[in-house]
Amino acid sequence: MTQIKFPKLFSPLDLGFTQLKNRAVMGSMHTGLEETKNGFDKMAAYYEERARGGVGLIVTGGISPNFAGRVAPFSAQLSFFWQVKNHQKITDAVHKAGGKIALQILHAGRYAFHPLSVAPSSIKAPISPFKPWALSGWGVKKTIRDFVNCASLAQKSGYDGVEVMGSEGYLINEFLVSKTNKRKDEWGGDYSQRMRFAVEIVKQIREKVGPKFIIIFRLSMIDLIENGSNWDEVVQLAKAIEAAGATIINTGIGWHEARIPTIATMVPRGAFTSVTHKLKKEIKIPLITTNRINTPEVAEKILSQGDSDMVSMARPFLADPEFMNKAQLGIENEINTCIGCNQACLDHIFAQKIASCLVNPRACNETELKYLPTSKKIKIAVVGAGPAGLSFSIVAAQRGHEVHLFDMNSEIGGQLNLAKKVPGKEEFYESIRYFSKMIQKYNVNLKLNHKITSHEIIESQYDKIIMAVGVKPRTPNIEGINHAKVISYYDLLNGKKQIESGASVAIIGAGGIGFDVAEFLTEKDHSLSLDQNEFAKHWGIDFTVESRGGVTGVKRNIHPPIRKVYLLQRNESKMGERLGKTTGWIHRAMLKDKQVEMLNGVTYEKIDDQGLHISHQSKRQILNVNYIVTCAGQESNRELYSELQNSNQHFKSNTILIGGADVASELDAKRAIDQGARLAATIELS
Ligand code: FAD
Ligand code: NAP
Ligand code: SF4
Repeated sequence: MTQIKFPKLFSPLDLGFTQLKNRAVMGSMHTGLEETKNGFDKMAAYYEERARGGVGLIVTGGISPNFAGRVAPFSAQLSFFWQVKNHQKITDAVHKAGGKIALQILHAGRYAFHPLSVAPSSIKAPISPFKPWALSGWGVKKTIRDFVNCASLAQKSGYDGVEVMGSEGYLINEFLVSKTNKRKDEWGGDYSQRMRFAVEIVKQIREKVGPKFIIIFRLSMIDLIENGSNWDEVVQLAKAIEAAGATIINTGIGWHEARIPTIATMVPRGAFTSVTHKLKKEIKIPLITTNRINTPEVAEKILSQGDSDMVSMARPFLADPEFMNKAQLGIENEINTCIGCNQACLDHIFAQKIASCLVNPRACNETELKYLPTSKKIKIAVVGAGPAGLSFSIVAAQRGHEVHLFDMNSEIGGQLNLAKKVPGKEEFYESIRYFSKMIQKYNVNLKLNHKITSHEIIESQYDKIIMAVGVKPRTPNIEGINHAKVISYYDLLNGKKQIESGASVAIIGAGGIGFDVAEFLTEKDHSLSLDQNEFAKHWGIDFTVESRGGVTGVKRNIHPPIRKVYLLQRNESKMGERLGKTTGWIHRAMLKDKQVEMLNGVTYEKIDDQGLHISHQSKRQILNVNYIVTCAGQESNRELYSELQNSNQHFKSNTILIGGADVASELDAKRAIDQGARLAATIELS
């Protein structure tokens, strides 16, 4: 049993007035459901599923205590008694499922995306177009009262506690740091004055809610900005927050404006927990640590090292609400692991869409997307075991259908097998492991090394045929494209062709794959995401926080690239424009660090022994490179589909395209998995 496998993770935490059943916290995540129609019913279902999945404590997405503090004009706020009954839907559902839940109070400060934003001083954030209004002395006191009122309403709503968001560069954090707090009154000046705002909030909330209510304070332990807090200040604040009546201190890592990755997939697992460890000896109340903790093994290790008393995982509970139950049962290899991609969660929020999860399309869609048992089992052939075919197969089989899955390769995963070889994308190994486990669990009949023909499909009398055969790389129409120097990304990443260290390479096409290939070619044999020291050196992070904010004056130590790379596109638009909102800047920064020359507005003339002939900014030039790698997008695989369409009426109406075989343009694993799961959720005999 897992009680023995993960003993630290599953030991209860006694808070005196209440007990948490284990050491896992579902960290706060804004999902967009907070502001949507029937959002409270949807949130109740979403949180209930996570509570049933066994997590010890849930923290809601951030809710503003007043109008100015809203992250965006229509973001959620809790300030009025009439709002209590809505929140009760959530707390009732969570409590019925045996869980506990705290409401996060988040005042966005100068990060608020509207013209009424407020801050300690009127200094615009580099990531916001709005200059905030400086709070008056009266405004500061009123804001504290709003925090207290919000906490009190949370208590009336049945929440087990609140989390006061004091990190990530939001309002409370802005009071703490001299760079954003230039006040001359009692809320500015030296550190003891700058921290008063945070301390007063906790103190006054405790006075209002009494002793039997959880108060978590999320404290920025490493700001990752120049002239952020230093370690003495972090300790001073933590002690004051403890004395003010907080029950638990949670770790905050980095301000949102920091240009250092903190949660993306290229961040090593558990990279920041040593910072929490450093605070352990300074205070008595429990500490939570956080960021890129995505497996029970990592969580257990962190707790065993004594880095913290609890671990916070946020996105891993989007990916798999049953994370904790599976870990407890010792079937942790059935956990659908969060791969840290941000593609369906944070990127959606930035695009003002409801969050979900690339590996679990049900996340935040619990009330609409249900995998219910079928009343009539049918026989289905799925051709292609890439993400689309895999996702379809496991959901259809889980619902009770007979699923036969074919792939011509020797392993499942399709293009994820290429993606996993890119430095910083190793988490795709976990997705393939998960699918593989689910294939066994739901008895999907898998046949590898099997290029199925239309004849075989017709013979076998399937009720439905799912065509998930993906895409083939596009061969651009350039004179000399068959030259020996030219390699497709497919052959490069699957190891069919190699490029020696020291070679020079031009990449045709700067989409997601072009960027990945550039990283693959410039990075040394190892990946920063697998080496915390190298990660710290590359980004200039001082994990001891001796330097202010953990970065001030810290030199970056970047390995020189092992190949000279040019990355090219025809379009005049910004390079990497279509990369993820929350991760594109990291890819661009990595390539800049690796001195990749990025050229847009390029016309390809020809390829010959001299290299790649291009026109750029009206000038002809020759890139005298040893290799040219084509990453020029893909086209759908449609041969088999066409053959079936031309066979008879049954196959014409019962063959369905999904994933890249359906639409190649702008295809990614998110769309492939989502489409597969949604079709499987409803497929029946027609
Ligand atoms: P594929 O993954 O192409 O799978 C199709 C499968 O069908 C293959 O396994 C193939 O062998 C099989 N097949 C084909 N014909 C037959 C046949 N006749 N018989 C049997 N089997 C057959 N997406 C993201 O969302 N995020 C990323 O970070 C990301 N990174 C990427 C990095 C790289 C380097 C690459 C190459 C892709 C990346 N992608 C990423 C894109 C993502 O992998 C694809 O969008 C996704 O794999 C498409 O899924 P699919 O199932 O439609 O097709
Ligand atoms: P893509 O993003 O569509 O990019 C294709 C590139 O090829 C573009 O830069 C395009 O730019 C160029 N191109 C297209 N046709 C061409 C032609 N005929 N000749 C020369 N160049 C041509 O596709 P991709 O990079 O192959 O990626 C495939 C999918 O995987 C994408 O949809 C992407 O979202 C997904 N993916 C995602 C990630 C991620 O991190 N989220 C990573 C990798 C891949 P010009 O037309 O301007 O030249
Ligand atoms: Fe994790 Fe990606 Fe899912 Fe977000 S979308 S929860 S980062 S797997």
